[in-house]
Amino acid sequence: MNNQHEYEVIIIGAGVVGNGIAYHLSEKKQKNILVVDKGFPLSGTSGATQAWVWVHGKKPDAYAYFTKCSAELYPELERKIGDIEYARTGGIEPFFSVEEMKEAEKMVQSQNKAGVPVELLNREEVLKKEPHFSRNVVGATYSPVDGNVNPFKLLEKYIKANRDQGVTFSFYNEVTGIDKKAGKFVVNTQKGKFTAEKLVLAGGLWTKKLGAFLDVSVPIKKVRGQIIVTEPLKPFIHHTIGGMMRQMQCGPVLIGYSMEKVGYDRRSTLNMIQETAKFGIQYYPDLAKANVVRCFSGIRVVPEDGIPILGKVPQVDQLYIAVTHSGVTLSPLIGTLMSELIMKDTTSISIKDYQISRFSKQPV
Ligand SMILES: Cc1cc2nc3c(=O)[nH]c(=O)nc-3n(C[C@H](O)[C@H](O)[C@H](O)COP(=O)(O)OP(=O)(O)OC[C@H]3O[C@@H](n4cnc5c(N)ncnc54)[C@H](O)[C@@H]3O)c2cc1C
Repeated sequence: MNNQHEYEVIIIGAGVVGNGIAYHLSEKKQKNILVVDKGFPLSGTSGATQAWVWVHGKKPDAYAYFTKCSAELYPELERKIGDIEYARTGGIEPFFSVEEMKEAEKMVQSQNKAGVPVELLNREEVLKKEPHFSRNVVGATYSPVDGNVNPFKLLEKYIKANRDQGVTFSFYNEVTGIDKKAGKFVVNTQKGKFTAEKLVLAGGLWTKKLGAFLDVSVPIKKVRGQIIVTEPLKPFIHHTIGGMMRQMQCGPVLIGYSMEKVGYDRRSTLNMIQETAKFGIQYYPDLAKANVVRCFSGIRVVPEDGIPILGKVPQVDQLYIAVTHSGVTLSPLIGTLMSELIMKDTTSISIKDYQISRFSKQPV
């Protein structure tokens, strides 16, 4: 660690968002970066996720297009940092009634208009792509750009690349306060004080608390999701199945969709696990006899209006924020754009819609 405890950029949060920013900053030769985390890299939401790289159906359509830009960056990211089990499986979002089909048709049209490739599949087409799927399916929407990644490998490879590119990490080190003195941030931690010219808040769920140190209000909510993990099974789910499940490359199926507003409560509850299992079997009847090896739950960090909060914090010079749901999907694009903003004060794709100033009446 730098003896002076002085850095050019400090990033608080070593999840997929903070590490993605550190990776792109250090790749662009930004010197003297510290990433600080109160736990270990997977201790937040990045370690309790389905990790789909999911694009189609996101609302509004412009946001779906924004996520598509991120999905497009994954193959190149994998080429650079190494195997992260990124698979562009294509995504299927099934429906089971004619009413849902009408909604799906509208969605396909508006997403295509926005530049997101989505098509409508009829029952036979769904079953051709997914032969083990329930015969009750009426149709589905399908996009070739959806996929998934292994979040454990993603973080492992990010951290290795970041260290190779000169980034310093301080784990198990909680930030307990932040001040701004003489134009520099003073970040107080359990292991001492660090100063920086520029500060990035990428603390996931805890970004609200981090913002409060500088009187910045961060409007986010917590939404729990519970996931069932089966034993490794022979490959039989070929796509990422929207709203519900995916099969990992090493065989286990991850099933889960719950959205529960229960605060920071990471328990797995029998009622929700039971419901999740029931829906899982309705999708793939063969799952009925699968051996369940574990369940886990994670807390989504969801901005009040559902879309990311990215960019500068207008009322505090040199303060940046990156907090979002779908952080796995968005990590390569957030890293790219935030590093451009921090180093060049501009971004190659507009993040105007995602600025924190949208929540206040303050001028941008
Ligand atoms: C059940 C579930 C399913 C999901 N499925 C998907 C999906 O399929 N696709 C997708 O793209 N996204 C999905 N998500 C969302 C995605 O996982 C998150 O958006 C993403 O992991 C957020 O990453 P992050 O780096 O912002 O947060 P985190 O991973 O939580 O990292 C923030 C870090 O900040 C650190 N920190 C906080 N406060 C402090 C402090 N005071 N001092 C020091 N360190 C601090 C924490 O320790 C933590 O490690 C899912 C989430 C859940 C819960």
